Amino acid sequence: MVDLQAIVDDIHRTLTPRIGEGKVADYIPQLARVDAAKFGMSVIDLDGRVYKAGDCDEPFSIQSISKVFTLTLALGKHGESTWNRVGREPSGSAFNSIVQLEHENGKPRNPFINAGAIVVSDLVLAGHTPREAIGEIVRFVQYLADDTSIAIDPDVAKSETATGYRNFALANFMKSYGKLTHAVDHVLGVYFHQCALAMSCTQLARSGLFLAGNGKNPITGHTVVSSQRARRINALMLTCGHYDGSGDFAYHVGLPGKSGVGGGILAVAPGRASVAVWSPGLNHNGNSLIGSLALEMLAARTGWSVFGAPAT
Ligand code: GLN
Repeated sequence: MVDLQAIVDDIHRTLTPRIGEGKVADYIPQLARVDAAKFGMSVIDLDGRVYKAGDCDEPFSIQSISKVFTLTLALGKHGESTWNRVGREPSGSAFNSIVQLEHENGKPRNPFINAGAIVVSDLVLAGHTPREAIGEIVRFVQYLADDTSIAIDPDVAKSETATGYRNFALANFMKSYGKLTHAVDHVLGVYFHQCALAMSCTQLARSGLFLAGNGKNPITGHTVVSSQRARRINALMLTCGHYDGSGDFAYHVGLPGKSGVGGGILAVAPGRASVAVWSPGLNHNGNSLIGSLALEMLAARTGWSVFGAPAT
C-alpha cells in the first residue's frame, strides 16, 4: 500500500526550493499580479480521500483547464456532431497560434487550443444569452466539484477582455470562415469568463473525479458522462492537453492532463485518482514548470502512468 500523503509531502518538500522558477504569464495583466511563490497540490482517490500539501486550498485562475469542462458540456448538448466543428488532433503549436487555422479553413485542430475552445464556447452558447451560458458553466463546475462556492473572478475576466487581442483575432478569423454561429463578442464573453473561474487545487481535483471514475463522481454518485465519453475526454487531454508540450508531458508524466496559464494542471489517473497542482511559473510551452515536475514525481512514485507501471 503506497502512503500517498507521505508521497505528496515529499514532493512538496523536494520542490519547495525550486518554487519561483519559470515565468508567470503576463499577457493578461491581472494574472501578472499573482504571487510566483505559490505551490499547491491535491490528490483525491476514488474513495474520496484527499491528500494535499502547500497552497492547495487557495483559489487561482484555472484559465484553460476550463476547456475540459466546456468540452464536456458541449458534448452533452451536441453529442458527436461537436466534432464537425472542431478536430481531435494534437496541434504541435502554441495555445494561441493562428497559423494552422488558415490551412485548415478555419476549423481548429482540437478543443484545447484557444481557437478550438472558442468554437466550443460557441456550441455552449447555443440557445442561450451569454449570461445564461456563463451561468450554466459555473453551475456545471459547481456540480462536478460538489461545491457551490466556486465563482468567476470578475477582475480577471475584465482584464482578459481588455487585452485579448489574440483571441479576438482568432475568433474574427474563424467567423470570416463561417465557423462561429454567434457574434464574436458574445462567444468571447463566454470564453473569457470560463477562463476566469477561480478554483483551488482541491476543488479542481474534485471536479475531475468523474474522469478518473469512468464518468461517475464516486463521492456524489453522480454519473456525469458515459464511461466511453470519459475515456475519450481523457484521450484528448493526453494528446492535446498541454499544447506543444503534450508529447513531453505524456513522456514524463504519462497521465491525461490539462494545463492553464494561471499555473494550474488537472491530471487524471483513470481508476485511481484525480490530481490538481498549482504553481504560477510557466515553462516555455506555457505549462506550470513546478506543477509538471510535481506530477512527474507523483506518477513515478505511484506507478500511475497509463503506459505501464515501473518494475518493482
Ligand atoms: N484565457 C487564456 C487565453 O485565452 C487561456 C490560455 C491558457 O490557459 N493557456 O489566452
